[in-house]
Amino acid sequence: MSVFSNRLRQLSQDPSDRRWIYVPYDQLTDSIGPLSRENTRNLGIVLIENPWKAARRPYHRQKLALILSNMRHFALEQAARGIAVLYIVADGPYRNALEEVARDVGPVKVMTPAERELRTDIEPLVSTGLIRMIPHEGWMTDSQLLEKIQKPGPQWRMDAFYREARRSSGILMAKGKPLGGKYSHDPANRLTWRGKPAAPTPLRFQVDAVKEEVGRLIREKFSHHPGHLDLNSLPATKSDAEILWSWAKEQCLEWFGPYEDAMSSVSTGIFHTRISSLLNIHRLLPSRLVSDVEALDISLPSKEGFIRQVLGWREFVHHVHVFTDGFRVGLEPPPDVLSQPGDGDYRNWTGKTWSTKGTESGFPGGSFPRWLGGDTPLPPAFWGAPSGLYCLDSIVSNVWAEGYSHHITRLMVLANMATLLDVNPRELTDWFWLAYTDAYDWVVEPNVLGMGTYAVGPLLTTKPYVSGANYINRMSDFCRGCQFDPLGDCPITPLYWAFLARHESALRGNPRLSMVMKSLDRRQGPAKNRDKRVYDFLKARLYDGARLRRQDLARL
Ligand SMILES: Cc1cc2nc3c(=O)[nH]c(=O)nc-3n(C[C@H](O)[C@H](O)[C@H](O)COP(=O)(O)OP(=O)(O)OC[C@H]3O[C@@H](n4cnc5c(N)ncnc54)[C@H](O)[C@@H]3O)c2cc1C
Ligand code: SF4
Repeated sequence: MSVFSNRLRQLSQDPSDRRWIYVPYDQLTDSIGPLSRENTRNLGIVLIENPWKAARRPYHRQKLALILSNMRHFALEQAARGIAVLYIVADGPYRNALEEVARDVGPVKVMTPAERELRTDIEPLVSTGLIRMIPHEGWMTDSQLLEKIQKPGPQWRMDAFYREARRSSGILMAKGKPLGGKYSHDPANRLTWRGKPAAPTPLRFQVDAVKEEVGRLIREKFSHHPGHLDLNSLPATKSDAEILWSWAKEQCLEWFGPYEDAMSSVSTGIFHTRISSLLNIHRLLPSRLVSDVEALDISLPSKEGFIRQVLGWREFVHHVHVFTDGFRVGLEPPPDVLSQPGDGDYRNWTGKTWSTKGTESGFPGGSFPRWLGGDTPLPPAFWGAPSGLYCLDSIVSNVWAEGYSHHITRLMVLANMATLLDVNPRELTDWFWLAYTDAYDWVVEPNVLGMGTYAVGPLLTTKPYVSGANYINRMSDFCRGCQFDPLGDCPITPLYWAFLARHESALRGNPRLSMVMKSLDRRQGPAKNRDKRVYDFLKARLYDGARLRRQDLARL
């Protein structure tokens, strides 16, 4: 018998006369919902560990280990509180296992799952009354807030949503006005980081027998998944989550604001909190984090910067995802939907097919909007083939080592490079989904399709977030370690101009791009022709998995 099941058996409670709750893999908390208020002696929970779900995409090993070790620890924590725990290892749609349970114990309650994939899976049981969906109490805002700020036409803006969320909640407000006289302190938050103040060292966590056992399982059964498994850097228990949050409050948040946009090859997170993977499985609750940060004795730009991410961006993207049914409705023309889950171009990189056998029937992949087109396959550089572009290579190697990189690296290097190369936005989204430990459909799709690639056009952002080498050089130390000169032969700048030229007709009327378009007009003749040659060359070479060399680019 395994360590985990042995411990669970020792803690087991009499399951009779209980009301049963299904706790999905991303609702691992007893601070909200029925688990927070009902007598533990009257409750039972169902947890489902599901290799079928893992097989749908080549998920990073660290992500699988994060979910499994937190689920197992959560089961033990709840059993120790007196709750009856039914821990099932299923290998098929969640609804199959849940139907069996509900037929046995009666209707099972669940807080509305955040992931669309899971909502769709269990929907037939909701229709038949075997599952009773109750509101998810983990969100800080309700969807009416999004409807309130919507201008005519299907467009939403995070800043309007965030202002409304601040006003209605009173967070960082005094007498109906924002503290400090403005809602956003973003302009004060754009310092580059040159090593001082020193960035905190990421935490190491204890590896107990339960986590060790999950590690063995990953190595034995999921060794074909990509990514490095590092059990020491993995928070797995309720107390690990508290330790991480204390670390973030004490060591990150004071400097969070000013260095929010900085990137570095020396520190992958700089002053970012690294809480997203725990926040998204509810080991930490957003409302609690926001009230803790409001009470911290730190500068207003840091407080506001952090609260904007959690109360603003995080809530906003979730509502948009629900509202558009995962970008299936409200877009013109209506996007295609993949017939099966995407593999982020794993196939192109490994030469092996990612088998979704048994996981596909009735469970299609994601929506595929492409406002700017975009059909280039994701280059193998995203899977670790060195491209010779130091910024890209350095971040990709962090991602496969940790399942993490911070926001600006995701937006201004990874998504930027992919967008400049007209990479298929769905493939990029699937890559982010499987490579990051904090990725779920409701958060990864708006961030990649909406913010990172402009694949949904002006639905979420006013313009594409793209840049040449100047931005990367200004905000990071990457260029110092690179063969290319950001002010000279770096190919990212011609790629940027080639992108604007290719998409001129779609972008020309955008008022936020009028200055850039004037500069494009002045970029004539040989420079413009070379931009295109650089684009063609990079697209072909990177697709082949080749490493770029200065001398080859110099010949173009
Ligand atoms: C292309 C792209 C893909 C992304 N994919 C994901 C994803 O799959 N999962 C995910 O949680 N975040 C995603 N983000 C948002 C953001 O990059 C991460 O939330 C953040 O980097 C997590 O690291 P952290 O905990 O150190 O964050 P911090 O910088 O310390 O921020 C604190 C918290 O704010 C929240 N937050 C900040 N920005 C966003 C945002 N745009 N959307 C939602 N929440 C936000 C997160 O919960 C985060 O933990 C993505 C952003 C981009 C540009
Ligand atoms: S020089 Fe260009 S490719 Fe190299 S790190 Fe800087 S931006 Fe990236």
